[in-house]
Amino acid sequence: MDTPERVAVVGAGAVGVTTAFDLASRGTHVTLFERDEPGSGMTGRAAGICYDAYAEDIDVAVADRAMTRFRSLSGDGDFVFHETPYVFLAREGDDAAATALTESVERMRIHDRAVSLVSDDELTEFPIRTDDVALAGVAENAGWADPSAYVGLFVEQCASAGVEFRTGTEVAVRHDPPTVVTTGGETTEFDAVVVAAGVSSRRLLADDGVPIALKPYRVQALVGDCDYRGPIVYDATDESYLRPHPTGVLAGDGVEVVEADASSWDATADDWFVGDSLETVHHRTETAPELRRAWAGLCGATPDRNPLVGDVADGVYVATGWHGHGFMWAPAIGDLLAQDVLGEGDGSIPTAFDPCRFDGDESFSVVDGLTLDEDENS
Ligand SMILES: Cc1cc2nc3c(=O)[nH]c(=O)nc-3n(C[C@H](O)[C@H](O)[C@H](O)COP(=O)(O)OP(=O)(O)OC[C@H]3O[C@@H](n4cnc5c(N)ncnc54)[C@H](O)[C@@H]3O)c2cc1C
Repeated sequence: MDTPERVAVVGAGAVGVTTAFDLASRGTHVTLFERDEPGSGMTGRAAGICYDAYAEDIDVAVADRAMTRFRSLSGDGDFVFHETPYVFLAREGDDAAATALTESVERMRIHDRAVSLVSDDELTEFPIRTDDVALAGVAENAGWADPSAYVGLFVEQCASAGVEFRTGTEVAVRHDPPTVVTTGGETTEFDAVVVAAGVSSRRLLADDGVPIALKPYRVQALVGDCDYRGPIVYDATDESYLRPHPTGVLAGDGVEVVEADASSWDATADDWFVGDSLETVHHRTETAPELRRAWAGLCGATPDRNPLVGDVADGVYVATGWHGHGFMWAPAIGDLLAQDVLGEGDGSIPTAFDPCRFDGDESFSVVDGLTLDEDENS
C-alpha cells in the first residue's frame, strides 16, 4: 500500500491533536475535524493524572513513552508537567485491596517501575492522614498536568506543522474509500481517516457499518479550594482519587459502572458525589476544602480493559476505549498511531490493542480503569 499523503483526523481531544501533529510533523497533509473546540470533549474534563505504575508490560511500555514525552514538553507554552509522587493505598480491614495492591506492586517492580510497598508509618513524609492505612504503594514516576494546556500546546504545534483545522465541524466517516462527510454534505476522500472521537467513536463507526466493543460510563470530579501540597492519592478501598491543584485539590470518583448514553448524559455532578468527595478530601488531607466547581464526564470501557487502537477497515483507524487513562497515554498513542498509519517507525501498537479483536456486539460489564483487582492493568 502507498504511504498515505492526505489524512483526516476526527476529534481534537488529547489523542486527536497528538496524532494530527505526529502525522503532520512527518510530512503528511492532515485535516483535523472537530465538532466543537479543541479539548471540548472529555480531555477538558480530565483530572490530568499521569503515572507509569502499571502491572502489565504493554501498559508500562506505553506509559513510559508517554511520561518521557510529557517531561520533554514541560515548559513549552503554558504546558507544565508537575512531578508528584502517586500514593495508592488500601485501608485497614480491606484485605482484598491490600492483597491486590501487594500483587500489583510486585508486578510493577518486575517491570522495573520505581514503586515501593510501604506501611502507614513509612508514609509520614507526606502531608496526608495515614492512621487508617494498612498498606500503600508509592510510585515516583508520576505527576499531573492541565489537559487543556496540553491541547493548547498541540494546537499551536499542529498549526506550525501545517495541520488544517476544521473546528465547529461535525462529520461522519465512510470506508472504502476512506471518506469524511460533514453535516453540510461536503464529502472529501482521504488516503486514511483516524477516528479519535472519544466515546462518540462507536456511533461514528457504527453508522458506517463498523461495530466496535466500547461502552461509555459516567465519572465525576471536583475542585475544592484549600491548601494541599501533597502527593496524588488513590484510595483502593473506596476507589477515590485526589491530586494537588493550583487552588487546592482536584478529587474524583463517582463512577457509575453501567453503560451511559454518549449522546445524552448528565454533565452536572451529583449532590451525593460532591458531599462524599469533599468529605473524603477532608479526611485524607486534613484540610477543609470549599467547593469551587464539580462536573461529570464519560470514560470508555472495553471487554478486556485494553483500548482499541489501530485499523478497523481499509484506511480507517480508531483510537479509543481508555478506561480513564486516555490523557496520560495520549503522547505515546499519537506517536504510535501516526507510525502505524504511515507504515513506519521504531515502535508498534501492541496487538492486545487491536480494535478487531472483538466483533463489537459482545455483552460485557463496565469495569472502571482505576480498580485494583486480579486483572489489574492500571
Ligand atoms: C472526570 C474525568 C477525569 C479523568 N481523569 C483522567 C486522568 O486523570 N488521567 C487520564 O489519563 N485520563 C483521565 N480521564 C479520561 C480522559 O479524559 C480521556 O481518556 C481522554 O480525554 C480521551 O481523549 P480523546 O482525545 O480520546 O477523547 P476526547 O477528549 O473526548 O476527544 C474527542 C473529540 O472528538 C470530537 N468529536 C466527537 N464526535 C465527533 C464528530 N462526529 N465529528 C467531529 N468531532 C467529533 C469531540 O467533540 C471531542 O472533542 C478522565 C475523564 C473524566 C471524565
